[in-house]
Amino acid sequence: MDYISTRGLAPRVSGRQAVLTGLAPDGGLYVPAEPLAPLAPQGSYAATMEAILGRFFDDTPESVRHEAVTRSVARFAAPDVTPLRACGDDAVFLELFHGPTAAFKDVALTILPHLMRDAALAAGIERVCVLTATSGDTGSAAMEGFADVPGTAVLTFYPQTGTSEIQRRQMVCCAGSNVTACAIEGNFDDAQAAVKAAFADPTLAAEAAASKALLSSANSINIGRLFPQICYYLETAGRLGRPFDVVVPTGNFGNILAAWYARLLGAPIERFAVASNVNRVVCDFVRGGVYDARRDFAVTNSPSMDILVSSNVERLLSLLTDGNAEAVRGWESQLAADRRFELTPGATTRLKQHFRAGWATPEETETAIREVWERHHYLVDPHTAIGWKVARELGLRNPVIAATASPWKFPRTMLRAITGRVVGNDFRAAEELAVLTGATPVLTGLELAPERHRRVTSRAAVPDTVRAVFGF
Ligand SMILES: *Cc1c(COP(=O)(O)O)cnc(C)c1O
Repeated sequence: MDYISTRGLAPRVSGRQAVLTGLAPDGGLYVPAEPLAPLAPQGSYAATMEAILGRFFDDTPESVRHEAVTRSVARFAAPDVTPLRACGDDAVFLELFHGPTAAFKDVALTILPHLMRDAALAAGIERVCVLTATSGDTGSAAMEGFADVPGTAVLTFYPQTGTSEIQRRQMVCCAGSNVTACAIEGNFDDAQAAVKAAFADPTLAAEAAASKALLSSANSINIGRLFPQICYYLETAGRLGRPFDVVVPTGNFGNILAAWYARLLGAPIERFAVASNVNRVVCDFVRGGVYDARRDFAVTNSPSMDILVSSNVERLLSLLTDGNAEAVRGWESQLAADRRFELTPGATTRLKQHFRAGWATPEETETAIREVWERHHYLVDPHTAIGWKVARELGLRNPVIAATASPWKFPRTMLRAITGRVVGNDFRAAEELAVLTGATPVLTGLELAPERHRRVTSRAAVPDTVRAVFGF
């Protein structure tokens, strides 16, 4: 499979090249250059994942793909990796949180390092230096996934305000010798903008090249993040054996887009529902065709969705217009200039045909957590809880809700939602929650882990931090 840029002004590249560079040189995102032939689930998660990698990363040697899948699957605590959990007639939860950092990002971030290492070697690059911005979960998943993978290094920027204490400690306590976390003054959009600016900085790129390194990205703009996520939607189709709607707690629009690609490959997904928190730019966009990021950024209790500018929407624009690069360029330049753009009536109609959307306030999120617990004795994290609320509001019948994170990443919110009790410390809250629910907490070992990363930077000083950490 070759890839072309959504903006149409960059050369066509192979899978390896697209994995290495992340963003296309014209500022666009890579999308498949050819229409997708059907791909059936293969009967097991590992086999389906290998088939997907074979399709999307066909210039990566088979032995590398096989090893990547084997190593990835070994890091998940559930036998079928991403199990389904039915809750009465309400919903089926697709549990994506049994990996090392307890969020769905582990699925792709335990595979990407192997793809990237191989692509770097093939290109004669000695070191891939991965820069990421995180709203909470990408950072630790990238650090865990790349930790001690030879020829790679990771620097992750996380917002000083917004992440849960457990999310923060997952990053600052991460032990790999080649991984670093750095707090950035500001919110996730500040972090994402600073990282994008670093990628666009020609001086930084030249300095990296001079030390035989390449700056790359592990955000969901990278095809190596996006396409492995198709696996669990195809697997779900195989396991359910019936058509279904999906509800996806959405931030950067990567996970729901993977579901869309799963349908392009043949999964019988009927409707796609976006679940947002109060930062509901994407929800409003899906409902009306107007993308408007001119609003205040809110810090919520579902921090991994605290995003106003969702990068993967650009791929959706390309899909909605059958690859009309000129239209995509127009919308993206409007977004850059005005933080707003409006689809044509035709594109809006197509969008509304397939997508639904809803959102929840922090209070409604807690109510949903409590309702799911009271009805089903099942703990859903704040992001997943919004998915459940939205599914009910939209009247979806027996939908599959992507359970994007473990409830144990957000124990204070969980405890408060279920009991009304306010506890100041995540670890004490996890203990209380475990006693109350009889469930077994995960991630508790973090409490006593030493903090290894103490850097804090301003947005303007990000390039200098990049130099210092990677030694350019
Ligand atoms: C990253 C994340 C999301 C948002 O996923 P996108 O692919 O960015 O839309 C939702 N929930 C959780 C728990 C996450 O970590």
